[in-house]
Amino acid sequence: MSLNSDEDSRESIGHCSVCGHLTELVALLGAVEMYCFECSADVATASLLITEIDAATLAGRDAEELVAECTEISNRILERAQSPELGF
Ligand SMILES: [Zn+2]
Repeated sequence: MSLNSDEDSRESIGHCSVCGHLTELVALLGAVEMYCFECSADVATASLLITEIDAATLAGRDAEELVAECTEISNRILERAQSPELGF
């Protein structure tokens, strides 16, 4: 008798914290919220950029480019979060 333990690879289906889509979710390391693949990539990139901006600012370096990139990604996340699935 062999027991198949799938507990480690179980899929987590739920609503994405950003866009609200019901899909397979990804848990980011250290994050409480769960996101779909698309959003998790953006959220991960944004938080990485924020860390880099902090580091650059502390080091007295120009973080303007990083800030611009971070703003762009944040806007994309917000846009997705605000787009209602109503058609119009
Ligand atoms: Zn999403």
